Amino acid sequence: MRWNASAKAAAELDRALAATDDLVERIKLIAERIEGRIAFSTSVGLEDQVILQAIAKSGVAKSGAEIDVFTLDTGRLFPEVLETIELSELRYRTRIRLVAPDAREVEELVSRDGVYGFRQSVENRKSCCEVRKVRPLNRALQGAQGWIAGLRREQSQARADVPLAEWDAERGLIKINPIADWSDKRLNDYIDANNVVVNPLHAQGFVSIGCAPCTRAIEPGEDPRAGRWWWEAEDKKECGLHVAESERSAVPVAHREKAA
Ligand code: SF4
Repeated sequence: MRWNASAKAAAELDRALAATDDLVERIKLIAERIEGRIAFSTSVGLEDQVILQAIAKSGVAKSGAEIDVFTLDTGRLFPEVLETIELSELRYRTRIRLVAPDAREVEELVSRDGVYGFRQSVENRKSCCEVRKVRPLNRALQGAQGWIAGLRREQSQARADVPLAEWDAERGLIKINPIADWSDKRLNDYIDANNVVVNPLHAQGFVSIGCAPCTRAIEPGEDPRAGRWWWEAEDKKECGLHVAESERSAVPVAHREKAA
């Protein structure tokens, strides 16, 4: 049975996903149950590469499911991310759309805050993430009934309660994290067993990979998110993609005074 997106449908999908432990079966369930376009926003991280491989293996796109795979091309990505995208497209016979920010908003942001203005304050950094990530994401999600992401409960304290599926009332869609309950070990075992395409930067100590100027390699034993915006306090470290609008604090570019 197929559902139109609703809070009830999200709760039922959450229960259905929890009833199977197999990722490919979970992908098939998502494709079978959700009517309309299902957006998959990939950051090309390990979790998203696993999900991409499972989508290809499931064959759901060939069966008629509308899976729209895209990544946010912030203009600040590592070259290795783009290389991984191309290799993934060839291996998994898919297209990964690059969703760009609004050029005029980027120009305005950089002219106001400077080319590396995001290093000067949390407010500036959140404005940069808002223009380069959050707004393009919202545009890409418009009209989608489902949104697949790669959040896992083990990634951070803030993500400890992430459900497999939930109703996103702000966007009017079902948000799905098909490997929310996976451990680090399970993730790495799956990658090895299935020879999943991964970003070569992971082998150099990069764990959670975002924009190049805002990501560094970490030492063994450091928190996986320690390499993101490392100059900021721990509780500020979300870019806004997985945070409700009411909880985000970035001030839109158009509404801020120009820097003196
Ligand atoms: S991660 Fe850094 S460069 Fe990328 S959008 Fe956020 S502040 Fe800007």
